[in-house]
Amino acid sequence: MTCKKCNRLMPDNMMACPACTDRANRAALRTYQLHPLRKVAEGGARLVTRHMRGGRHIQMFAWNKDAEQYTFCGEAVDPAHRRGSLTLDELVDAAERGTVCEKCHLQVGDLMVEALPCSA
Ligand SMILES: [Zn+2]
Ligand SMILES: [Zn+2]
Repeated sequence: MTCKKCNRLMPDNMMACPACTDRANRAALRTYQLHPLRKVAEGGARLVTRHMRGGRHIQMFAWNKDAEQYTFCGEAVDPAHRRGSLTLDELVDAAERGTVCEKCHLQVGDLMVEALPCSA
């Protein structure tokens, strides 16, 4: 059987195409970041960082503690990866010094624009 949405071959016994489900989950997870990011911008929360593959990445906020966790650049997070945290100011500073993953920083920057409606 072929998925009507993405034309990928999918297992006959599945009701939903895994590729489309995965894409929808990721889109929903992305939208879910907006509220916690607003809190970070207001100083009421901190960004969680993870050291992996020789770099420092920013972890996406999870819906619940059992959910699989990802960095903003799309890497799966392992509990063994060293945790840290950053305020928004510290992130800007780290990005300037090049000590944080550029892709993660760009993603957070994009989402921050969405999270914070222009107050002008
Ligand atoms: Zn599909
Ligand atoms: Zn990253």
